[in-house]
Amino acid sequence: TFRIHISALPGAGWRRPVVLTFEDLSEQRVTERMRVDFVANASHELRTPLASLLGFVETLQGPARNDAGARDRFLAIMREQGLRMARLVDDLLSLSRIELRAHLAPETPVDLTGISREIVDSLTLMAREREVTLTLRAPTEPVRVAGDRDELLRLMENLVENAIKYGKRGGEVLIEVLDGPAECSVGVRDDGPGIAPEHLPRLTERFYRVDTAASREAGGTGLGLAIVKHIVLRHRGRLTIESALGEGATFRAVLPRFGAPPRKP
Ligand code: ADP
Repeated sequence: TFRIHISALPGAGWRRPVVLTFEDLSEQRVTERMRVDFVANASHELRTPLASLLGFVETLQGPARNDAGARDRFLAIMREQGLRMARLVDDLLSLSRIELRAHLAPETPVDLTGISREIVDSLTLMAREREVTLTLRAPTEPVRVAGDRDELLRLMENLVENAIKYGKRGGEVLIEVLDGPAECSVGVRDDGPGIAPEHLPRLTERFYRVDTAASREAGGTGLGLAIVKHIVLRHRGRLTIESALGEGATFRAVLPRFGAPPRKP
């Protein structure tokens, strides 16, 4: 698809020179389409808990007005729905903040092992609830990447949380930090049911889920991996996903080592 711009150059009379500019709209179209889809999806995701919340308010104001038992149950559900909306709004805000800074590559030295250890500590309770063992394997020396500490914590939190949520109950999650001359990486591997190949290319899209009910049940917003992808991109790194049905899944973020010369484009 093309848009044609016609502009006249200054000159006299009807024989003024005219410039035609052809603009390829296809890429712009795709971006616009994605934006429209995103707004529609986000609205739908918010609308669902909102409708449930309003429904319960109306029931409490009407038929269940004098039913103390129902009131407690409904209030508990309403709280859940409210929390769900809050999580969604927080994730949407995180995503847009990361995107706003996409052109600024983070430059502070961050130790991937330290970050991983913090996440293991903060998610130990969650892991215990699913009887999952968290194991951290890392070199003894610090593994420093050029990064943004808060974003890397967020990245690791999302990956390890997913491994606990979608991995096998009673299974093992291995977090492995690797050092290299130009690039370092951190991988999160679970021994859960894995992901079928047809889902892999779309996994980091906003709101894409393999099993929507399971994701909602686990408190997911469908934005976790989109956030991970944008953090990795801002760090000029890459995310690899390896999985097959019945074989668990490994998510690995490969990031530029601190002090390494920038990669040629
Ligand atoms: P959610 O909030 O739904 O967890 P994510 O963006 O973090 O959203 O993940 C998208 C989907 O990818 C999840 O809904 C789940 O279906 C799938 N997924 C993510 N991590 C794993 C994993 N370790 N094993 C199997 N499936 C996974």
